[in-house]
Amino acid sequence: NTFAEIDLGDALNLNIRRCKYVKPTPVQRHAIPISLGGRDLMACAQTGSGKTAAFCFPIISGIMRGQFGQRAPRMPRTACPLALILSPTRELSCQIHEEARKFAYQTGVKVVVAYGGAPINQQLRELERGVDILVATPGRLVDLLERARVSLQFIRYLALDEADRMLDMGFEPQIRKIVQQMDMPPPGVRQTMLFSATFPKEIQRLASDFLSNYIFLAV
Ligand code: AMP
Repeated sequence: NTFAEIDLGDALNLNIRRCKYVKPTPVQRHAIPISLGGRDLMACAQTGSGKTAAFCFPIISGIMRGQFGQRAPRMPRTACPLALILSPTRELSCQIHEEARKFAYQTGVKVVVAYGGAPINQQLRELERGVDILVATPGRLVDLLERARVSLQFIRYLALDEADRMLDMGFEPQIRKIVQQMDMPPPGVRQTMLFSATFPKEIQRLASDFLSNYIFLAV
């Protein structure tokens, strides 16, 4: 029941110690092994449950181990992340970005955030410097996709955080558009994690549309 017992890799384990995390929270204890094992996941998790680390750790660990090769964009100046974390608001996206950067410190894994309601130029410059994990709000990401400044063709990990809130805010069309842009990989190549505090019909529909052979986790 410590992080050291979970096989996340030395660099990530060192960062976890730097964050002073000793014991996994319940959602982490269950979600991390499921994701490391390659399964899709739908998790019931509230704010404060430690869900950010629950989806960040398997993503960072997977990118560090992965042999994903060269990512040649179809167009120049197009950023090609390996992982996408969608969240409903600028505040939550910035919070996830800050935590993910701490977890990815000195691992070589680059994390960039993009959100609406702020000038796009700074975000474009960040994206041009390279990105492995993109944290984004749905509206701004659709904008970046339309400008061909982001491509989702190499996405191997997709995390939807606070999915119920994203639907409440009317982001379902954007989310569907985003997921459609991911090239259909062979089954098992793209891993999807859906986190939500509640499970109304609409969320269950998203899960059956976006996840394959998934494990449902309620802690
Ligand atoms: P979250 O639910 O991801 O927003 O996390 C809530 C808070 O708990 C954040 O401040 C995290 O840094 C902290 N946290 C997450 N996991 C752990 C852990 N295993 N041990 C101690 N603190 C944690």
